Amino acid sequence: MSGRPIDTDDLARRLRAGERGALARAITLVESRKPSHRRQAAELLQAVLPDTGRARRIGITGVPGVGKSTTIEQLGQNLIAAGHRVAVLAVDPSSSRSGGSILGDKTRMAALACDERAFVRPSPSGGTLGGVAARTRESLLLCEAAGFDVVIVETVGTGQSEVAVADMVDVFVLLALPGAGDELQGIKKGVLELADIIAVNKADGDNEGRARQAAAELKAALHILTPASPDWTPEVVTVSGLANRGLDRLWETIGRHREALVASGGFAARRREQQVKWMRTLLEERLLGLVRGNRAVAGRLKELEARVADGDLTPALAVEELAQALDLPEATT
Ligand code: GDP
Repeated sequence: MSGRPIDTDDLARRLRAGERGALARAITLVESRKPSHRRQAAELLQAVLPDTGRARRIGITGVPGVGKSTTIEQLGQNLIAAGHRVAVLAVDPSSSRSGGSILGDKTRMAALACDERAFVRPSPSGGTLGGVAARTRESLLLCEAAGFDVVIVETVGTGQSEVAVADMVDVFVLLALPGAGDELQGIKKGVLELADIIAVNKADGDNEGRARQAAAELKAALHILTPASPDWTPEVVTVSGLANRGLDRLWETIGRHREALVASGGFAARRREQQVKWMRTLLEERLLGLVRGNRAVAGRLKELEARVADGDLTPALAVEELAQALDLPEATT
């Protein structure tokens, strides 16, 4: 982003008109860490807030190679053909990818990215998971303001980022591989617990039988877990992103999940909770930033972290020491 001052009113106007170029620019603004950009990003988000909240927010996760990009690309094209506008964002805190990777991701979902009715954006690079998640959440709002009525947030199935993504979407879909057993294919129990829908992918050719078997095992595994929502029992479907099979059923299941949660009031409650959780996360980051930036304790923080890591000091005592060094009043909760 150049030194040219940004006219946030104009950007907000072009964003609301659905200009993809304006959306890309707005996302670059929210991803910037320059304090002046942060302020402008906050202004822009506040300005477009009334135009947000209307999209279907869908999280999709799965181990690398499960077929996330293939499936999202196909599902996205189906949805566009049905009249939707589809944005795809990614959360991958491990990525140190820079500008060049945008091209990389574009070739990953080439057909979708080229379509005027779609928008594909890779993960913001660098920073903590909290930071990456916060930028993605803001980008999601910008996509909504630009009129995208389906926003898919993709994440790599490594364990941590799933929670962050589940906290920003309405429904969380786990893609799984055919071939049952294998310790449930390395899917972590925590990730399984977050899933509202599991889609066993690659259910095509010789894999069909194995996909059905995996679906049956996953259904059985889900029975012994507490569902993510009291209003919805997680469902398992089989799909083939490559052969475009089962994706209509997946979409229909996503629709039923929404209907069930809207009917019970769980949908509105979930979004409200997410908003407040987001605010708390931002507050925590801000407070932690203050501690890190405080000269009196910055060095001490590192030393205490090392002792906690070595097991010489409990985290609670370390925080107590820091609180005293910062002259913080005693916590009441
Ligand atoms: P990602 O890492 O989860 O994004 O996975 P990709 O979408 O890049 O897919 C990984 C590999 O699996 C590629 O070679 C795809 O062609 C293949 N693949 C993806 N979906 C399917 C599917 O539904 N059926 C079959 N047979 N192969 C698939």
